[in-house]
Amino acid sequence: MTEKIPILDLKEQTRKIEAEVIEAFRRVMAEAAFIRGPEVKAFENEFAQYEGCPHAVGVGNGTDALVLALRALEVGPGCEVITTTFSFIASAECISLVGATPVFVDIDPVTLTIDPGQIEEKITPQTKAVIAVHLYGQPADLAVLRRIADKHKIALIEDCAQATGATYGGKKVGSFGDFGCFSFFPSKNLGAFGDGGMVTTQHAEMAEKIRWIADHGSRVRYHHDMLGTNSRLDSLQAAVLRVKMKYLEAWNERRRQIAERYRRNLASSGIVVPQDAPYGPSHHVYHQFTVRIPQHRDAICEHLNANGVTAVIYYPVSLHLQPVYAPLGNGPRSFPQAEKAQGEVLSLPIYPELTDSDVDGISTKLCQKYQELAPGAGKKSTSGRQEPVRAAG
Ligand SMILES: *Cc1c(COP(=O)(O)O)cnc(C)c1O
Repeated sequence: MTEKIPILDLKEQTRKIEAEVIEAFRRVMAEAAFIRGPEVKAFENEFAQYEGCPHAVGVGNGTDALVLALRALEVGPGCEVITTTFSFIASAECISLVGATPVFVDIDPVTLTIDPGQIEEKITPQTKAVIAVHLYGQPADLAVLRRIADKHKIALIEDCAQATGATYGGKKVGSFGDFGCFSFFPSKNLGAFGDGGMVTTQHAEMAEKIRWIADHGSRVRYHHDMLGTNSRLDSLQAAVLRVKMKYLEAWNERRRQIAERYRRNLASSGIVVPQDAPYGPSHHVYHQFTVRIPQHRDAICEHLNANGVTAVIYYPVSLHLQPVYAPLGNGPRSFPQAEKAQGEVLSLPIYPELTDSDVDGISTKLCQKYQELAPGAGKKSTSGRQEPVRAAG
């Protein structure tokens, strides 16, 4: 057997851009403006243009992007913010970090993004915002979310950490919300050589406010109007990101091709595959290719990992079941769709440099094991459009 296929391999991609990055680093060293220098300004402008959003502010990381958006809205103790229970912890952590209370909502069983139909019942006079997560690169239903936010006069924040380049109705995600919050953690679709993040916004005054909060609450140096912090994108990361930006569309397109190949290979296997959501129309960028395996998921995950394929469960525990959120009092069966998903999801390797033959090999191993453990399962529909199950209780 050849080497184990990792869930993500950045080595080849990094080799391909090495010469361009070194040239960019030389430029940064010549400028010697390492924080908020011209590279950062140029990257902010290029990113804003790419996003179709008037303002973009570089920040320290994706979690800070979310925290800074909430702080710009003056969300704090006594406030509530609605978010999905099925995401990476940062989608709720940011709310707790500003002293507000996360209010969880269940997911749509097909797209695994926040179910807009369950948001309005959670809105109270304390609700200040909704955070929608474009999970695995799949846009949440932004038109419906925007209508709900406008109707109740609350803010819409998009957690775009996994979805740089994804579109909804032909427009980039991050341009629908009051804020779009991006992460450039190395594993994301657009990743730096370290931590980095960006906030996009339609509102000029909000962009300014985020700049001061992220720079110790000062507009004029050593004059502090409000309590701030230190969260800035540095010039070396901006230089790397400017190089990578040029390839992002092609890389995302290759991710979509890989997804299509997996879908063809897994058709009629009984394994549920992701695809573009019916709304929008949406354009998924497959940060992850996450299938749902209705039975024996854990055994299949172990089998793949023991046989040359890294497969990972994103995420094994919904946020409402995390010990850190036990004080909120949401127990098991509070969010049935998320709890069902956490028992069935499995993410397979996907990155632009993955070869077609790797995809075929992974698919074969997966199908064979599933057939063996769940004979006959392949007769069911595999369209990814499961019957929506009514959330009970
Ligand atoms: C990665 C991620 C974040 C946080 O980004 P960092 O840059 O690692 O702080 C936030 N939300 C989601 C959904 C993520 O996947």
